[in-house]
Amino acid sequence: MENIGQLKAFLSVPKDIVITSHRNPDGDAIGSSLALYLYLNKLGHTVRVIFPSEYPDFVAWLPEAEKITIYDIEPDLSEDYVKRADIIFCLDYNSLDRIDKLGELIGSLPSTTLAMIDHHLYPDINAEYQISEPSASSTSELIYDFIEQLGDIQMLDTDIAECIFTGILTDTGSFKYSTTPKLFRIVANLLELGVDDVKLQDLIFNSQKEKHLRLLGHCLKNRMEILPEFSTGIIWLTRNDYETFDIQRGDTEGIVNFLLKLKAVKIAAFITEQPTIVKLSLRSKGDISVQEIAKKHFKGGGHKNASGGSSFGSLKGTINKLKSILPQYKEMISA
Ligand code: 5GP
Ligand code: MN
Repeated sequence: MENIGQLKAFLSVPKDIVITSHRNPDGDAIGSSLALYLYLNKLGHTVRVIFPSEYPDFVAWLPEAEKITIYDIEPDLSEDYVKRADIIFCLDYNSLDRIDKLGELIGSLPSTTLAMIDHHLYPDINAEYQISEPSASSTSELIYDFIEQLGDIQMLDTDIAECIFTGILTDTGSFKYSTTPKLFRIVANLLELGVDDVKLQDLIFNSQKEKHLRLLGHCLKNRMEILPEFSTGIIWLTRNDYETFDIQRGDTEGIVNFLLKLKAVKIAAFITEQPTIVKLSLRSKGDISVQEIAKKHFKGGGHKNASGGSSFGSLKGTINKLKSILPQYKEMISA
């Protein structure tokens, strides 16, 4: 951040601060938000974290998670906090439309100072303070850097370290991608601050219910199609499946990655029928950019190897649309 000195001066007196992250918050969204929340709280600011929608159970144990305000549940209170804020942090998203109505409200408050910290491609938020680093593993890694840049690394404690670790762990798929020597050094520092990595992995990944494994079995047995010609695998879920398996927010997290276990698959698509839209989660290996596919064909975006988007068509229509555009990417896929 070039104007970090200016932000440090701004934060040298107590402020009213709002931290926002994206709809369907994942481990990095909540990890980065709570890490920043705990840090700014220690500095003596009044801080609120607001998410558009609820966070999944596997991160509910994180310190102070219960203090988060959910716009879907408390819209008036959320709007109140946003209107009163001296500065609003936008974490782990690159465009105000990723936070729905909350984004519309923030966009309509031209005098509020915005600070964006994010690692998605093509930032599209007009923020006075920006850290946009697509090469970073996670927004949580960037929060670590941010606190360091502010000269406050000594303010990290076990709680803050656990939040940052959670974001890094989940966004790197347990250190499988976006790893760098620098990231492992940060993680080493987090362990020295008291993070119990084995305990946290257990809390995050080994806390599923029976219905989650039944659902995974259903996906792999009945809802998977492999297209060898395009090295692509698709898993889909119908609205009926959502009822049958009592699927709640976060319950489908990670299913798309199973397709990447196949040697023959380079592009993985998880396509689900939601109440008003069809949602796509795309993943890829190596140099194949699913970001390009999500942006061009499904009004979405994200990262080169992990993107998402949506469609107003039917589930079947969306699956067919994906199949019909794959030939355009044949060269990229077989490179
Ligand atoms: P997921 O597939 O886990 O929902 O999302 C993977 C990545 O794609 C995330 O980094 C997320 O921010 C991004 N992403 C998911 N859905 C959308 C979308 O509808 N629009 C945009 N721009 N990005 C998305
Ligand atoms: Mn992230």
